[in-house]
Amino acid sequence: MFKSPGNNGISLRIVCIYAIVACLWILFSDELLAFLFTDQATIIRLSILKGWLFVVVTAALLYALIKGHLEALQNQFNQLTTIFDSVNAVVYVADLATYEILYLNRFGSATFGSNWQGKTCYEMFQADQKAPCSFCTNDLLVADGEPLPPHVWEFQNTITGNWYQCIDRAIRWTDNRLVRLEIAFDISDRKGIERIKDELVSAVSHEMRTPLTAMLGYTEFILEHEVSQEQQKEFLRTIHHETERLNELIGNFLDLQRLKMRPEPLEVTHLAVETLLKETSDLFGVAPQKHRIVLDCPPGLPQVIGNAGQLHQVLVNLVSNAIKYSAEGTTITLGAHREGESVIMWVKDEGIGIPADMQERIFERFYRIDNSDRRLVGGAGLGLALVREIVSAHSGRVWTESSEGKGSTFYVQLPAIHEGH
Ligand code: ADP
Repeated sequence: MFKSPGNNGISLRIVCIYAIVACLWILFSDELLAFLFTDQATIIRLSILKGWLFVVVTAALLYALIKGHLEALQNQFNQLTTIFDSVNAVVYVADLATYEILYLNRFGSATFGSNWQGKTCYEMFQADQKAPCSFCTNDLLVADGEPLPPHVWEFQNTITGNWYQCIDRAIRWTDNRLVRLEIAFDISDRKGIERIKDELVSAVSHEMRTPLTAMLGYTEFILEHEVSQEQQKEFLRTIHHETERLNELIGNFLDLQRLKMRPEPLEVTHLAVETLLKETSDLFGVAPQKHRIVLDCPPGLPQVIGNAGQLHQVLVNLVSNAIKYSAEGTTITLGAHREGESVIMWVKDEGIGIPADMQERIFERFYRIDNSDRRLVGGAGLGLALVREIVSAHSGRVWTESSEGKGSTFYVQLPAIHEGH
């Protein structure tokens, strides 16, 4: 796993050489003295000196060996901490019995604070936790005094609120005791996407049931009963209406899901606001219309940067709503004006309006205002959620001003391009 400095072989060699030299010294140094000197007093003095010399050399060698070992250990520790400090995950080591934290990497300190010395893992990583956590995995890490394979689990932290995938295992610490090592990766983004997906899927399947039940009921009735042509037409009109609703629901759902799940960089170009508005009004002008669609766009507006398809979709959704929620024969105006560094596009209708306390909530997914006027109008409450999603991806803002019974105006504010860019 980690490359060891390989000092053990060298140390053994030094110890062996030292042992041989020491043995030779002990065996032959007295004879050497006797051979070199005849005077007994000199021999005794030199023997004492020789003893001291032996102690000094031994001590120096021991010192060099211990220092080398300590440095090697320190190097190894530094290598490990450098690796763990460069990981974008919380890495910590805690005593298995006392829960005391023995190590916390830089990412962990930045997330939970650097005052971890002397604290237990449950105090440090959990909000208001005064005793070991009920879900502590310590018991799963060791069996018969030996480390078990890593235990992997997911968990929502009570301090940060983030989700983590944790890999826990028992390892031997520097003093040979078994300790707990945990590596925790932040998986909040993945969890968020999973949650959105679950929510969308369950809400969409719920929303789909209504039009599908109606379509099934009417077709079954036509197939199983004698129905007049007049009645058949009426039933088919309802089926057509429900199919349109289903189609809109699925279209909006897929667009919203794509935006939420895979926020890709937008393909953007410089766009003339007037063209965007004109294209939208032309689109609605093709079929015979029950509403008057009017353009109100002053010349010389600055351009905006954006994705033409998506901004077109924003306007289409707003105009469709304006049509859905206002009476036949009324006027729908598409306009734009400059405001400071931005351009504001707007869609105004003379329809039923939106109660003040709901003007913010209508932009939430699946939020529909439920009253008898509106229940007849098909929809799934996804159109405005998609509008808001697209507009915020363009660093813009969307809001409505509306008064009940008089009409609503939806505004989309986008940053304008400075002249000369
Ligand atoms: P829906 O598919 O229900 O129209 P939206 O997300 O487009 O979903 O709109 C959410 C709700 O906001 C609608 O159910 C409707 O009650 C209200 N709403 C949206 N646009 C208008 C409008 N122009 N006039 C009145 N009410 C509107």
